[in-house]
Amino acid sequence: MIELRQIPVLRDNYIHLLHLPDSGHTIAVDPAEAAPVLAALAASGWSLTHVFNTHHHADHIGGNNGLKQSTGCEIVGSDQDGPRIPGLDRRVQEGDCFLIGHTEIRVMEVPGHTRGHLAFWLPGEQMIFVGDTLFSLGCGRLFEGTAALMWQSLQKIRALPGETRIYCAHEYTEANARFALTVEPDNADLQRRAEQVRQYRRQGLSTVPSTLAEERACNPFLRPDSPSIRARLNLMHADDVGVFAELRRLKDVF
Ligand code: ZN
Ligand code: FE
Repeated sequence: MIELRQIPVLRDNYIHLLHLPDSGHTIAVDPAEAAPVLAALAASGWSLTHVFNTHHHADHIGGNNGLKQSTGCEIVGSDQDGPRIPGLDRRVQEGDCFLIGHTEIRVMEVPGHTRGHLAFWLPGEQMIFVGDTLFSLGCGRLFEGTAALMWQSLQKIRALPGETRIYCAHEYTEANARFALTVEPDNADLQRRAEQVRQYRRQGLSTVPSTLAEERACNPFLRPDSPSIRARLNLMHADDVGVFAELRRLKDVF
């Protein structure tokens, strides 16, 4: 059974630290900074063996060099992002599957936020690390891709088993809920989730992870086929990409 620590850093980033007790491996996902990871390692007695980077933005790779210097860990990232990921050791791509200890890691390419964006899926643990592609009740901004490309990427994630826990890299859920309620105010699941999120945040608790089933029920960016959203946007006859693109545009100016 994997052990997981969630480390809040910067304004609203999460670094996830995974420990595999069987084999003794420890993985840091998207280390924005080295120091908080080193502190968590010291507190837990775990030794860092790997860094997984979902993409090259500073708030996901800022700790790479410091962690490599201190621990000698192996850094895993996108083959397409070689020069953009400091210290990259193992270049991976769509469909790659490897073991760390006894834990199977599957690599998915999910471009849109950036060209080389990856998701790391651990099917045996029912966990996926999605970086800035999918957020709880939201999705990443389109910096290096079109709405069509991002929608393809989100559909890959949307097709995974509903119990899959979604570990995203930012605590954006409360603001995302406010937007989601403007485009699908009559969604009872969304209303319940939004209330839960408000309560969690009032107590200073994390809203990450959610499950994929929850996101499919509540997250407008996974629901461009919802008749209610389509009616609200006056896009009854558009295709899913068209609805998704309009949702993303509205969120950008929300
Ligand atoms: Zn980013
Ligand atoms: Fe980010």
